[in-house]
Amino acid sequence: MASVLVINSGSSSFKYQLIDADSEQRLASGLVERIGETTGHATHDTSDGHWERSLGIPDHTAGFGVMIDAFAEHGPSLEEHPPVAVGHRVVHGGARFFEPTLITPLVLINIEDLSELAPLHNPANVEGIRAAQAAFPDLPHVAVFDTAFHQTMPADAYTYGLEASLAERLRIRRYGFHGTSHEFVSRAAADFVGRPLAELKQIVLHLGNGASVCAVDGGRSVDTSMGFTPLEGLVMGTRTGDIDPAVLLYLQRKTRIGVDDLDDLLNKKSGILGLSGHRDMRDLTRAAASGDETSRLALGVYVRRVKRYVGAYLAELGGADLIVFTAGIGENSSVVRERSLAGMQSLGIEIDSNRNAMPNDGPRIISTDASVVTVLVVPTNEELEIARQTLRVAE
Ligand code: ADP
Repeated sequence: MASVLVINSGSSSFKYQLIDADSEQRLASGLVERIGETTGHATHDTSDGHWERSLGIPDHTAGFGVMIDAFAEHGPSLEEHPPVAVGHRVVHGGARFFEPTLITPLVLINIEDLSELAPLHNPANVEGIRAAQAAFPDLPHVAVFDTAFHQTMPADAYTYGLEASLAERLRIRRYGFHGTSHEFVSRAAADFVGRPLAELKQIVLHLGNGASVCAVDGGRSVDTSMGFTPLEGLVMGTRTGDIDPAVLLYLQRKTRIGVDDLDDLLNKKSGILGLSGHRDMRDLTRAAASGDETSRLALGVYVRRVKRYVGAYLAELGGADLIVFTAGIGENSSVVRERSLAGMQSLGIEIDSNRNAMPNDGPRIISTDASVVTVLVVPTNEELEIARQTLRVAE
């Protein structure tokens, strides 16, 4: 019963899933966190139960030891479900990696080199890869990049209106993120409506803590709202999304704010948190429904930005067959879905309020039968997509 181990590594934590290679069932998942702190923490989940453990975990290598112990103690047994490959989520593949890639020493050097573009993420991914290679030295390790799916964007979609030689020298362009999710969801949506992916124009709305929109034409990303970094585009949980860059110059001149504080302000203290004090969409919609004006404004700003991108991508694609909501907010917030697409009947988009409000965990249609554009909710599963792509490379 072959399996694939999927690793998503951060600087002081990593998440893992063991996925059956044939049935694609999740056999176990877990989180090893607070690596390097006095007391680390690990959780391990299987169909039989949930386990937690607190202990010192000095580094990622020790973390993999903790994970292997959890499999040995609580199952499933790695002997009975031997991993045939390890798939790693890697945030930034730059313009170099446009598909899942077997990790050789040279590939690892290239991923490290891209740390300049993703200083918070790529070094942590590399650390996870090194530790996993030490724990599973005989297995193929595969990197699956968040940016790869968007490498099909045409140059006029990924180029900024910035002085060209400078942009080229410093590799400043739009890369896009959440590619694994946009790829998985656009394919799953095509399967669900029973139409060939190659024939469909789709707008995929990945609305989680981080959020991005992708215009998918025939299964290929042709534009996406995140850019050089995951800060561009939609208003997010704690990120501004699009903002006039002159605001940053003004802030620097006016308040003498330093670069690191500015980074914090834009990435961690803004978005719906900065607007309303609520980080979680559940709290925001509840507060807005109870009449809190600040929360109503924040929700209004959030959904208007989603609508603006839907309009932009309808224009870029020349219309859409499918609009697909996914991720924490997209899958669960009927309010955000309804308001983001409200008043677009003349563009062929009509949500069915009853279908939209019906709670359901699976893929479903939420537009009316008369709607020209079919609107769907499709749960994302980035780990499964990483496992599939890993197997494709490793086999
Ligand atoms: P991440 O980007 O961290 O993977 P998720 O895709 O899990 O995030 O999305 C997390 C967000 O989903 C939460 O911040 C929360 O706002 C939102 N969310 C989860 N459940 C609901 C719900 N029932 N209603 C509205 N929003 C929800």
